[in-house]
Amino acid sequence: MDALLKEIEDRHAALIALTQDLVRIPTLNPPGRHYRDICALVGERLGARGWDVQMVRAEGALGDSTQHPRWNVVCRLEGPHPGECVHFNSHHDVVAVGEGWTREPFGAELADGRIYGRGTCDMKGGLATSIIAAEAFADLNPGFRGAIEISATADEESGGYGGVAYLAERGFFDPARVQHVIIPEPLNKDRICLGHRGVWWAEIETKGHIAHGSMPFLGDCAVRHMGAVIAEMERTLFPLLAGRRTDMPIVPDGARQSTLNINAIHGGEPVQDESYTGLPSPCVPDRCTITIDRRFLIEEDIAEVKHEVTQMMERVRETRPDFRYEIRDLFEVLPTLTPQDAPIVRTVQDAVHAVMGKSAEFVISPGTYDQKHIDRIGRLKNCIAYGPGILDLAHQPDEWIGVDDMVDSAKVMALALHDLLG
Ligand SMILES: [Zn+2]
Repeated sequence: MDALLKEIEDRHAALIALTQDLVRIPTLNPPGRHYRDICALVGERLGARGWDVQMVRAEGALGDSTQHPRWNVVCRLEGPHPGECVHFNSHHDVVAVGEGWTREPFGAELADGRIYGRGTCDMKGGLATSIIAAEAFADLNPGFRGAIEISATADEESGGYGGVAYLAERGFFDPARVQHVIIPEPLNKDRICLGHRGVWWAEIETKGHIAHGSMPFLGDCAVRHMGAVIAEMERTLFPLLAGRRTDMPIVPDGARQSTLNINAIHGGEPVQDESYTGLPSPCVPDRCTITIDRRFLIEEDIAEVKHEVTQMMERVRETRPDFRYEIRDLFEVLPTLTPQDAPIVRTVQDAVHAVMGKSAEFVISPGTYDQKHIDRIGRLKNCIAYGPGILDLAHQPDEWIGVDDMVDSAKVMALALHDLLG
């Protein structure tokens, strides 16, 4: 065991270099750039070390196109003896860069023990960590039992349909093939994430009548109707949700309640592209839409979550003549929770204790991640998220990952492999 921990330390330069190589491929999603490049990098590296490599394009999946194909890579190393399979799944896509950076977003600059860049923390650092851990374990224990799998998958940031969902539908997470799954999302190196809250996304549309902007009394303004909806939301729905607390150990603490975000609002004329130099034209908007993002707790029922919004819309209707609206479902996922006595939970808990000398904290993620597909499509319950990186830095400007955190997490992952396959 000590030899394994030392081996990880000896590979810290390789861990940095691999993280930098991954970060320098700008796998922006949307639209889904360079997916094939990053899969090839992982596949060629592990293929050269004797792993079986499968490049899988999610043909026909949501988001897949000729211009932006949804590529995934699944690598498997079989030991000489039969046993269980431990799978590390990382998404390779990253979100938009956004404003406010002081570092080069895809430069992967190393400074003061941190690597900076979009995707360092979420989650190329975690991908690199799992690769180094698996390589070190396999090199020191060539006679291991069972198999190790590492996958780098597409589109987690946009729902995972061209990634883990596609693979799960094709049996890649069948309990007969894979028995343990670790998703190295950035949840902090001493925390084990057991699952996530539920999600309901919906589009709400208010309807009006188009007319000339100089004679609004001849039309019916859908934006004013939406204003009334948002006012009612402020008056009743937000306070209701804020008062609902859960026993789930969700982090950060603000997410221990039900939440709702208005992700977008659109009304009236569409925004013209930048090349248009004219003025807008005067019209009464005949439709206005908002996209709501409702995150719910394991104690809540999704039917009730939806019903609350309908009730709120009905309250608005009572105060406004001719008020018409529509609610369209976009996406929903039920909350997921792996039991604390699941084998992978106990193994990683012991490994965290051995490496860091303290008990791992159990947490639940405020948002969903690919565990939903492994659970629901793959029917595999023995799954956790565990990885280096500080959760709050995900999607932020100047995102970074600490090298020491990656090394510690790699030790935990290697010990977990040793425990399950050694
Ligand atoms: Zn992520």
